[in-house]
Amino acid sequence: MTGRVYPDPPPFGAPKFAKTEKNVFAARTMSASLPRIRILATGGTIAGAQTGDRARGYRAGAFSVEALIAAVPQLAALAALEVEPVAAIGSQDMDDATWLRLAARTQAAADDSAITGVVITHGTDTMEETAFFLNLVVRTAKPIVLVGAMRPATAMSADGPMNLYNAVAVAADPAAVGRGALVVANDEIHFAREITKTNTTQVGTFRSGHRGLAGLVNNGRLHLYGPPVRRHTTASEFTLAGISALPRVDIIYAHAGMDRKLIDAAVQAGARGLVLAGVGDGNAGSLALRAAAEAAAAGIAVVRSSRTGGGVVERNIETDDDTSGFIAADELNPQKSRVLLMLGLTCTADPRVLQEYFFSY
Ligand code: GLU
Repeated sequence: MTGRVYPDPPPFGAPKFAKTEKNVFAARTMSASLPRIRILATGGTIAGAQTGDRARGYRAGAFSVEALIAAVPQLAALAALEVEPVAAIGSQDMDDATWLRLAARTQAAADDSAITGVVITHGTDTMEETAFFLNLVVRTAKPIVLVGAMRPATAMSADGPMNLYNAVAVAADPAAVGRGALVVANDEIHFAREITKTNTTQVGTFRSGHRGLAGLVNNGRLHLYGPPVRRHTTASEFTLAGISALPRVDIIYAHAGMDRKLIDAAVQAGARGLVLAGVGDGNAGSLALRAAAEAAAAGIAVVRSSRTGGGVVERNIETDDDTSGFIAADELNPQKSRVLLMLGLTCTADPRVLQEYFFSY
C-alpha cells in the first residue's frame, strides 16, 4: 500500500504508476469516517486521450485512474478512494480471462470489511456484458458500480469526471446496497440486467428498455427506483470457484437469406453453446433452424434471442422449442444471453435446466 495523497498529480499529467494488482493506492481521506471505495481500473474511453484537441480518434486507457481522480477534487469529500489496476484496455478487448480476474478482484474488494463499495472503470462497448457477468458471480450485497464515458478525458465537455463522481456517490450510499451490479452514466443508474448500449457516440447511449432505470443520480444525490426483478449476486447460484476457463459460446446473427454455414462453423470451432440473434421473435430461416436443431441434438445448448433490441422471446411461438431442444432467451439480448449461457454451462448442459436459468436471471 502506497500512501499517496490526492489530489496530487496534475490533472491529465499522466503520472505513470506501476500497474500491478498489488499496487493499491490510498487516496486522501478528509475524515476517517468517510466511506472507503475501491476503484478497479480496466481502461476504456473514460481514461482515453485524443491525439489533438479536435481529433476524433483517441487511445483508450491512456490515462491512469489516479489522474482522473485528481481532475475531480470534489471526490475527496465523498469517499476515501483506493485504486487497483486490473487491466488497461478498450472494452472491445474484454475477454473471459479478464472477466475471471476482474470477478476475483471485485469479490476480494467486497470481502474487505473496510470497503463500502466497489467502482469499476470500464469501456462502454461491452460494459453491459461485464456488469451482467459480475451481477451473476460476485457474492456481495455491497454496491458494485461500473462507470465509463463516451468522450475521452481530453475532449470538450468530457463526461467522465461527472460520471466518476456519481459512480462513487452511488457506491458509497447505503441505499444502493442489495441491488446487484449497477452502471452509472449520464446521471442515470442502470441495473446490470437491463442496461444496453444503443448509440455509437452519444453520451445518452445507455438505455434500460424492459424494466426501466434503477434510478437517477444528480451531482451525487441518489434517487432510487424499484429493486431489480431477477436473481443476482447474493441470490445467484453461479460460482467461479474452481473455474479457470469458461465454455465457448458463439453468437450467430440471423438475417434474410441465412444459410447454415455459420452455425456449422461454430459447432466445428467447438462451441458448447450457441446464441441465435434471431430475427423478430428469435427466429431464423428453416436452413439455419435445422442446423441449430442438429446442434441441440448433439448436446450443444441453443438459445433463441432476438436482434430487435426489445421484447420477450417466448417458447414455442413460431418455433417448436420442445421438439428442437431450444432455449428461449426471455428478455435477455444476445450478448447477455451469451453471458448467462456460459455460466449456465458451467453447471449443466440440460436445456430444461438452462431454460429455467433464463426465466430466473
Ligand atoms: N471501444 C472503447 C471501449 O469500449 C470505447 C468506448 C468507450 O469506452 O466509451 O472501451
